[in-house]
Amino acid sequence: MTALNEGWFTEIFQDEGTAFSLKVKGKLHEEQTPFQKIAIWETETFGNLMTIDGCVMLTTRDNFLYHEMMAHPALFTHKDPRKVVIIGGGDCGTLREVLKHPGVEEAWQVDIDERVTRLSEQYFPELCESNDDPRANLFFGDGIQWMRDVEPESIDLIIVDSTDPVGPAEGLFAADFYRDCMIALREGGMVVQQSESPLLHADSIIRRAREDMLKAGFDHVMTLPFPQPVYPTGWWSCTMAGKNKPLQYFREEDADERPFVTRYYNKAIHHAALAQPQFMVDLFEG
Ligand code: SAM
Repeated sequence: MTALNEGWFTEIFQDEGTAFSLKVKGKLHEEQTPFQKIAIWETETFGNLMTIDGCVMLTTRDNFLYHEMMAHPALFTHKDPRKVVIIGGGDCGTLREVLKHPGVEEAWQVDIDERVTRLSEQYFPELCESNDDPRANLFFGDGIQWMRDVEPESIDLIIVDSTDPVGPAEGLFAADFYRDCMIALREGGMVVQQSESPLLHADSIIRRAREDMLKAGFDHVMTLPFPQPVYPTGWWSCTMAGKNKPLQYFREEDADERPFVTRYYNKAIHHAALAQPQFMVDLFEG
């Protein structure tokens, strides 16, 4: 739910009894696509803001936290990720991070809504700076169907950078989808999914996703918390699942000597994200 009050954009989380506000200069764009309502705002201090169906997707100022954590921990955990597929991620921020890895030979971004990408090109051009990389493939269609149709054992890493598990994204948080991911992955392959707030969703969305990943045949799961100020509670997570691939070890030396710039991710942050808060240990391992 969204409220606009005297120059403030407010996203209200009715069930949780909380809200998040940004001071805005105005609305730059709004459109209803066949899938969702996208709006772009200019904020006073966070740059541009994209919302989908009234929910905050990203801002210029803090999206690096989310995009780096969706990409680099998984890419440095996989032994040798060459083919990477992003499901969702239409703003292209995750794609940009993936393509920073010189070993990646082919990266696909599969988003259901082409308008997200076109608006990102216009209002978040820095996120789209790698879209012309010859390794980048932008496909617009349903990620659930795409994963059903893809050649078995052809992908090293699947990154599910989706909206919340409602509407078109609901099926991206489901055992059937994870099963299709499992089939699509090569040996040692991994899936990583944005898995909402540890504080709000550990006992619901995160626990279900972990259980469904294990049911689908993955033998390792790991949830990594990280800060994300503009999302509910300001604390977010991604959940990794490995196909015969332990997830608590990563290519530390490669992470430390990465040949590209990051603003949040580094070796120490990766270690820190692997540390599990006690309530998550109790919930997932108890
Ligand atoms: N992680 C961000 C968040 O939680 O706010 C969302 C980033 S990204 C903009 C989410 C994308 O998922 C959107 O562009 C949306 O179009 C896409 N999406 C939702 N359902 C999808 C589906 N079934 N297949 C492919 N893309 C989907």
